[in-house]
Amino acid sequence: MNAVNFSAFKFKNSPPMIKKIEHIGIAVNDLEAATKTYETLFKASPYKTETVEREGVKTVFFECGESKIELLGATRDDSPIGKYLSKQREGIHHIAFFVDDLAAEMTRLQQEGFQLLSESPKPGADDKSIVFLHPKGNHGVLIELCEDRA
Ligand code: ZN
Repeated sequence: MNAVNFSAFKFKNSPPMIKKIEHIGIAVNDLEAATKTYETLFKASPYKTETVEREGVKTVFFECGESKIELLGATRDDSPIGKYLSKQREGIHHIAFFVDDLAAEMTRLQQEGFQLLSESPKPGADDKSIVFLHPKGNHGVLIELCEDRA
């Protein structure tokens, strides 16, 4: 195992691009059952449900302090979430980070060699513009970057 060289960090004096964890996305087989589970777990009801038909996904949002939990169910088997659920078990699907300037970060991350899953920001649920970064470039984590939609 390699040691981490702390003196070599390159962004020690930069303001961070990530403002907070905006939400954690959880892919579920049965959105209705999962909503009841999380409603009981949190002792709180979801504040929003939204279907993004173009992406074939139905979402249920719970507030979680500064962040949110986004439950994701497929509206059809051939949607990205439908395909994911047919190949993998339900569970944590992605982590979404909030940024101030999504377009600028997309340019920067592309130059740094990250693989973006779309060339321009896409409209996401909950009034956000979003882009995903391929999990292969992030040590196995599907990362969503999002900003408030203007
Ligand atoms: Zn998300």
